[in-house]
Amino acid sequence: MGRQPLPPWDLATLLRDVPGRKTFGQPLASLTSIRIGGPADALVRVETLAALRCLHAVAHEHAIPLFVLGGGSNLLIRDGGIRGIVVRLHGTFRTYDIAPSAAGSAADEADVHVGVGYPLSRLALQLGRQGWSGLEFAYGIPGTLGGAMVMNAGTHLGDMRQVLVSARMLLRTGHVQELPASAVGLRYRSSSYPAGAVLLGAALRLQRGEPGHSEAMMQESYGRRQRTQPLSQPNTGSVFKNPPGTSAGHLIESRDLKGMRVGGAMISPIHANFIVNVGQATAADVATLMARVQESVQRAYHIALEPEVHVVGEEG
Ligand SMILES: Cc1cc2nc3c(=O)[nH]c(=O)nc-3n(C[C@H](O)[C@H](O)[C@H](O)COP(=O)(O)OP(=O)(O)OC[C@H]3O[C@@H](n4cnc5c(N)ncnc54)[C@H](O)[C@@H]3O)c2cc1C
Repeated sequence: MGRQPLPPWDLATLLRDVPGRKTFGQPLASLTSIRIGGPADALVRVETLAALRCLHAVAHEHAIPLFVLGGGSNLLIRDGGIRGIVVRLHGTFRTYDIAPSAAGSAADEADVHVGVGYPLSRLALQLGRQGWSGLEFAYGIPGTLGGAMVMNAGTHLGDMRQVLVSARMLLRTGHVQELPASAVGLRYRSSSYPAGAVLLGAALRLQRGEPGHSEAMMQESYGRRQRTQPLSQPNTGSVFKNPPGTSAGHLIESRDLKGMRVGGAMISPIHANFIVNVGQATAADVATLMARVQESVQRAYHIALEPEVHVVGEEG
């Protein structure tokens, strides 16, 4: 990786009064599941809404891009890193509380108010064990609630659409707004929140269930993951979305591409829609491999595979 040009802002000075842990020029690789990613000009970990608002105001005033990093499990951060500010939401953003649902009787339904930084899979397990059912599909999906709200994360058991009641967010204007699920455009691995919104939290509606049943469902789906996914090697989950009526993994496998390598990036021999980092893979290696897969599938089937992974940042 070449030397990075200096950012056009003096971020250490501009962010001096923003509460939270700050680092400058830190590589982001260790904060992603595929262990790839160049540096952030500034990486800020905020613990409260007040701190986030303060950071947001500085970014807005100086037109500095602000990127929210969740668990980094659906990201390919390019080798040149991310210009501007990368923010991680900890503290109050990693809490939840359970309230009787306004819609149902208190005994059989609850609305769980969760901060976006909460790890999704842990939330599913904890709520399932407390006898709240509906999030079983999410057990085993890495990352945070915020990332899952953006990605409409899910499995064959369901996705965020089945639980999301409303989403709370900080708008570009600096105002906090709560939108009903019907207004945030959740669809297959995609959503349409207002541009530039930083998600803060969500209300999720769950039903009274049977802890043993929830846990059995979760263990069953986790067992399936262990059998079919390369969980011991750094990866980003499914690289491409499934085209209508077929699976990306099936198309890639039928092109005989399992095991294909570019530098330190390889198409997993276990699951063809996973790219694993087998050593010192760069984002450029992964991007080249993705392009080869797309070309091969396009040539054979006239299908354009659309990335599920979000590719962000600058070329190295
Ligand atoms: C081994 C493995 C298995 C996986 N299995 C599944 C699966 O079964 N189903 C599935 O759907 N996905 C799966 N994934 C992909 C990934 O875990 C999900 O997409 C997850 O929901 C991403 O959450 P995250 O917190 O890591 O988001 P990140 O990767 O950090 O971010 C994803 C996007 O969301 C944005 N974002 C995150 N938080 C906020 C916020 N608070 N406000 C605004 N924007 C935000 C980011 O800017 C980015 O654009 C898997 C990944 C791995 C590595």
